[in-house]
Amino acid sequence: MNIFENSIFRNRATHAVADPAAGQDTAREESATEASDRAGTVRKSDAEWRQELTPEEFYVLRQAGTERPFTGEYWDTHTAGVYQCRACGAELFTSNEKFDSHCGWPSFWAPLAEGKVRYIHDRTLGMDRVEVRCGTCDSHLGHVFEGEGYGTPTDQRYCINSVSLKLVPREEPQVSGGSPEA
Ligand SMILES: [Zn+2]
Repeated sequence: MNIFENSIFRNRATHAVADPAAGQDTAREESATEASDRAGTVRKSDAEWRQELTPEEFYVLRQAGTERPFTGEYWDTHTAGVYQCRACGAELFTSNEKFDSHCGWPSFWAPLAEGKVRYIHDRTLGMDRVEVRCGTCDSHLGHVFEGEGYGTPTDQRYCINSVSLKLVPREEPQVSGGSPEA
């Protein structure tokens, strides 16, 4: 496991003060004045999260860890449904925007809606990346990359850890009109 990731991200994930542009004050104001609009902001202590999450979930969601590629539950899933945040249950992505990136993690070309996730400029580990977090509970989800040439509407790849997500399959029976594997 990666020592840098552990120590650097532990601070950030715990206190969430790393990004002045995100404006802690603004977030606080919003939740006070537009509480009904924002569907609630979830804030819990590390101790509380540790109680609710498995060690692997805690490592990824709260310490910005990364699951190993091709090992997660959803990297190769084609089930129709909605992907929720595994920490707080907020709906984040849908199967409509999921695509086969073959990178070993679930990949989406867009979130369910803007505002569902938030972005943080991540310059750790000698890389220049954009971290993606849950807009409701601020848990780490993964990173978003752009301009890689995937044939998707946005040319973006939201590279998300399976362990950060929980798939809720769509209720209605799925009539498959031609399998992409064929
Ligand atoms: Zn969440």
